[in-house]
Amino acid sequence: MSKAIDCLFCKIISGAIPSPRIYEDADFICISDIRPQSKHHYLVLPKKHVSSLDQAFPESGESQALLVGKLFETATRIAREKKLLPGGFRAVINTGQDGGQTVFHLHLHILGGEALGGEFA
Ligand code: 5GP
Ligand code: ZN
Repeated sequence: MSKAIDCLFCKIISGAIPSPRIYEDADFICISDIRPQSKHHYLVLPKKHVSSLDQAFPESGESQALLVGKLFETATRIAREKKLLPGGFRAVINTGQDGGQTVFHLHLHILGGEALGGEFA
């Protein structure tokens, strides 16, 4: 699995930085966000290091469409497992500096457990 040496989420995935896992399979882990923005706030991380959504769909190079599709599928299954459905939840991928991305390892936020306002994580 490709790793980036100075990437916080790669360190969490490898176990170098301990973080309890809500879910794990061959391709993804899910952890609770350290600064929750809603009653339930999880992060789904691909084990493979892809720095952002932008890098998942590069102008030239391999598209990570399958990985991104599975990322949404995994998030939806976790949301259902956590009883956020049928009520609903928000799935967010912040991309780049202007998009509010602070950790440059692709991840999907799952927010829910309450009626969410119009603002985004
Ligand atoms: P971004 O801003 O890149 O979309 O999301 C990064 C998220 O990672 C933020 O919501 C932040 O609270 C969370 N985060 C940052 N450092 C850690 C950490 O060490 N552990 C966990 N579980 N979450 C973290
Ligand atoms: Zn990484």
